[in-house]
Amino acid sequence: MCGNWFVIINLTLLCVEANVYSKTQYRVGGTFSDPNHQAAFQVVIDNLNRDNWEKPFEIIAEPFNVSYYNSLETRRAICSLLEKGVIGIFGPSSSHTSNYIHSICDNKEIPQIETHYDLKIDRSFCVVNLHPNARKISEFFVHLVRAYNWDRLIILFEDNESLKRIAPLLELNIEYGTHLIFRQLDQESPGSYREVLNSIKKMPDNNILLECSIDILEDVLIQAQQVGIMTEQYKFIITNLDLSTVNLEPFQYGGTNITGARLFDPDDTTVTEINSKIMEILKLPKEVADMQKMRLSTALLIDGISMFYEVVKDLASTPSGIEVQYLECKDTDSWKYGLTIANQIKGREYNGITRKIRFDFEGIRSDFKLDLVELSTAGLQKVGQWDTTTKSLTMSRKYVAPFLDLDLDFNPFNRTFRVVVVLTAPYAFLKETTDQLTGNDRYEGFCIDVIQELSKLLGYNYTFLVQHDGKNGNFNRSTNRWDGVIGQIIDENADLAITDLTITSERENAVDFTSPFMNLGISILYKKPEPVPPSLFMFTSPFSTSVWVMLGVAYILVSIAIFIMGRLSPSEWNNPYPCIEEPEYYVNQFSFRNSLWFTIGGLLQQGSELAPASISTRTASGFWWFFILIMVASYTANLASFLTVSTLVTPFKNIDELSKQTEIKYGAKKQGATENFFRDSNGTTHQRVYNYIKAHPELMTAENEEGLKRVETENYAFLMESTTIEYITQRHCGLAQVGGLLDHKGYGIAMKRESPYRNELSTAIIKLQETGVITGLKIKWWKEKRGGSTCSATKKQSEATPLDLQNVGGVFLVLFVGAILALIGSFLELAFRIYRKCQMTKDDFYHQLKKELEFFIQFKKNIKELAPADEDVSEKNEGGF
Ligand code: GLU
Repeated sequence: MCGNWFVIINLTLLCVEANVYSKTQYRVGGTFSDPNHQAAFQVVIDNLNRDNWEKPFEIIAEPFNVSYYNSLETRRAICSLLEKGVIGIFGPSSSHTSNYIHSICDNKEIPQIETHYDLKIDRSFCVVNLHPNARKISEFFVHLVRAYNWDRLIILFEDNESLKRIAPLLELNIEYGTHLIFRQLDQESPGSYREVLNSIKKMPDNNILLECSIDILEDVLIQAQQVGIMTEQYKFIITNLDLSTVNLEPFQYGGTNITGARLFDPDDTTVTEINSKIMEILKLPKEVADMQKMRLSTALLIDGISMFYEVVKDLASTPSGIEVQYLECKDTDSWKYGLTIANQIKGREYNGITRKIRFDFEGIRSDFKLDLVELSTAGLQKVGQWDTTTKSLTMSRKYVAPFLDLDLDFNPFNRTFRVVVVLTAPYAFLKETTDQLTGNDRYEGFCIDVIQELSKLLGYNYTFLVQHDGKNGNFNRSTNRWDGVIGQIIDENADLAITDLTITSERENAVDFTSPFMNLGISILYKKPEPVPPSLFMFTSPFSTSVWVMLGVAYILVSIAIFIMGRLSPSEWNNPYPCIEEPEYYVNQFSFRNSLWFTIGGLLQQGSELAPASISTRTASGFWWFFILIMVASYTANLASFLTVSTLVTPFKNIDELSKQTEIKYGAKKQGATENFFRDSNGTTHQRVYNYIKAHPELMTAENEEGLKRVETENYAFLMESTTIEYITQRHCGLAQVGGLLDHKGYGIAMKRESPYRNELSTAIIKLQETGVITGLKIKWWKEKRGGSTCSATKKQSEATPLDLQNVGGVFLVLFVGAILALIGSFLELAFRIYRKCQMTKDDFYHQLKKELEFFIQFKKNIKELAPADEDVSEKNEGGF
């Protein structure tokens, strides 16, 4: 069995081998000046052979490296290729040498596939050029200039070749009267274009059409940036279809309007896959290879080879097939299949990486689509497509105000805003990095993110400007001018201003504000309260002074009450000698001194050997003891917390206390909204504060940062906005906000008065608030970035506070109510005893009552003579209590 399998496998291998060796080999030549082309030629042919391994033929690549301008060398290469029996020739890369080659290939009838830019219309029969028609491309740029409504433009070109390419643009001047100013990139010192760029800078025009080769494009743009014409005032149209392969990152935040076109997307996956194989062959270092995107000429070459292969495949499968012929340049012989192949290529429609390839009856690729690309902060973006056949531009997003004559929706946000910011934490910072950053990339912070989020919603571009003096905006009444970022808006140096910019009525009169993106109020930044060392009289701390006073008052009053009750209550008058059955007088244990002693004994929970006997004294004692129970329990509990928690002292608790003391200095940001709040406020406290800060200009700071430093190092309190206080206290754990907010207001984005952008910006801000984006950014910049939450880990110290009357008032109330009830009870008790006595003796009740009360008010007498009737009553009462 195993033997059989072995035989089968061997036979199969033999067949495959036989197939390989019996394959017809067609040689295809190439003359390239660009190593990328040579590598692409090899990669694509290898791929095609591999994918079509079952076909009875294979293609052998015969690439030649020739220099760009050397026609002789190219001719020699072609002749040697013809001798090798090539069935087609790719290249050359340059139009300089191609004319020479056209005639040879036409004579020998060898198909020649080219990919370079060619303005000529008269084409040789055997030549196929895959490059889109140069005139059709120019037509697009003419349309673009018209659509942008440019009535003047600078045409910046490289050399004669590029001048030829843009020749069709002259139509702009002839047909539409566009004023064209031609400037050539410096030729004398190659690589340095600053001179001409500088001269452009001095011109009043800022619409530039740049036509140059891809090899110098990046340098030209960098030097344009260096001389200062890469700003939002300038608009560039770049005609090179390889614009997408240039690293445009350094320019994407500058706000320059850069538009261009492309035939294919070099970032497409199929393209990048082939490109990485080309890079492997070229053995470039990874960093270099990663930066190299596939250029148009390489993509066209790849499509050309694939088309050529398809045609050869079809012809080879016909009964007559293709016969190879070895030709010599000096002979007059020609190849009989060449014209057929060339015609077949021209007659086919093919979908390659440069999209649909179709030739017109002249063999020119004139039916194609171009992507309109525009540089944004996210890089080069496709914003539309130009169709050469219909001559129409379809926009892929709501965009483009200048395309007014294209009947597109008008979008006022199709522009670059100059956004002025103040570098103040956490609203805007310079990025902390060792990399050299340029443009908007240099900044980060809350406001930077807000602008970015708004741009995502509204589709505008932006470039940041910095207000170096850190001023937000104050109206100088003597010069009648605004300074700070508000001044920049009024002077039209900036379109938008965003920072901790408080919306105030004064500023509202000068500029427009969006709805607030953050709410806040003025408060005080000061050091956290310090713990005080325990004092000798710590034991008094659990109760506030008022409670101590009330406790003393309660003690005295209750003692008096018990004394009174003792005298009034008949039951408190007792036989001093119980062994004498008929005493001559009674004594009362609740003398005034004893009453005091009895009450204090209860208060200190020690007792006093005095036992109340009547209902009233017992009731009063009960309430007193209940009162003591609660008071002692509260005292003990609060004392425990005073002993375990260190007491914190705040020298002031609010703006009023701060303004009334002199020890702690205070100030605010100079000419900011906070200072102006005190200036304009009518409150006496606020006026006191304003008078103080006006009298002490040295206490005012230029920036919040300075105020923070003073709070940390001096005995100084800083009046500032709660949002910034919150940011500071997250990072400086020794500092805290003291007191609440003095007012309520918000930060907004400022723009010039009657700005058309205000409503849409406000709506977008509200949308960001509704979707939680603003909250997310607040958490990011307050609690996460740059040391956020440093202080949230430190435990908030609990504080012990003395118990005030509010805390224990109820117990006092119960006590007083109890004592009063007991007093009333003692009167009733007395009255009842007299009533009973009068019933027995038939005495007058009121007379007896008067007598008793007269005795009662003789407070000194603690001994009561016994009247006969008293005896009987007392006997009857015995055991009553
Ligand atoms: N937000 C203030 C302003 O817009 C600056 C800070 C302050 O005054 O506390 O002027």
